Amino acid sequence: MTWFTRQKPGVEGAGEGEKRIRTEGLWLKCESCGQIIWKKALDDNLQVCPQCEHHFRLDARARLAVLFDDTAYEEFDAGLTSTDPLHFSDSKPYTERLASMQEATSLSDALISASGKLEGRHLNICVMELKFIGGSMGAVVGEKITRAIERSIEQRVPLVIVSASGGARMQEGAISLMQLAKISAALMRLDEARIPYISVLTDPTTGGVTASFAMLGDLNIAEPGALIGFAGPRVIEQTIRQKLPEGFQRSEFLLEHGFLDAVVKRAEMKHYIAQSLSFFCD
Ligand SMILES: [Zn+2]
Repeated sequence: MTWFTRQKPGVEGAGEGEKRIRTEGLWLKCESCGQIIWKKALDDNLQVCPQCEHHFRLDARARLAVLFDDTAYEEFDAGLTSTDPLHFSDSKPYTERLASMQEATSLSDALISASGKLEGRHLNICVMELKFIGGSMGAVVGEKITRAIERSIEQRVPLVIVSASGGARMQEGAISLMQLAKISAALMRLDEARIPYISVLTDPTTGGVTASFAMLGDLNIAEPGALIGFAGPRVIEQTIRQKLPEGFQRSEFLLEHGFLDAVVKRAEMKHYIAQSLSFFCD
């Protein structure tokens, strides 16, 4: 596998101080089981803990590389950027926040729209990038998804959307909320054209994304242990004045209560999608 850069461990003969510097960041502690894991072992295992199978978050590029055959895909609408329609400013101006995010992630916004083959079948895949302003959905994310849906209708190929998002983008206010309706309406047209859409929910999928396209798939499948919900647990507890049950808003709990169709391990996700599409299309 070639989609992760790897640091080399300290070489023989290096001084103590140098050794320490070179081994920094090579190990990390699993946030679930507490096991110390060699970072390379995690990279080789699709960012899943070899000990307890805890699924660490995966960025959008790595996700696309896992799903597409030979890690090859064509990207669409990569140049779309937000125009800051509200001239919004919080702790810093939105335009500045966008610019620093674009530099940090090398993406124009919080989603990559791509097309390629998955186990030999042509399809469109959109993947959200959590590192870009919390994977929030603004006008650009809405437009990119809508265009991907329209391409799917035009070319009659299935669509997969991999969500990882904190919800609507605060800095775009009502314009951000309008994306829920825009994408949902486009998905309706996809449904009428009888083209399958699989929604893959990863940790975390919340807010307006859960309230719209993430839950509108012909299949809604999630990775193990993903946080999926609308409002966060603290807000709900304060509203209903009750303690929430153990594991509330995690994939397994949602599957048990009928909100999801399946919980699928990362290593099996590609084949699961391929099998599902064979079922839908062939
Ligand atoms: Zn672990």
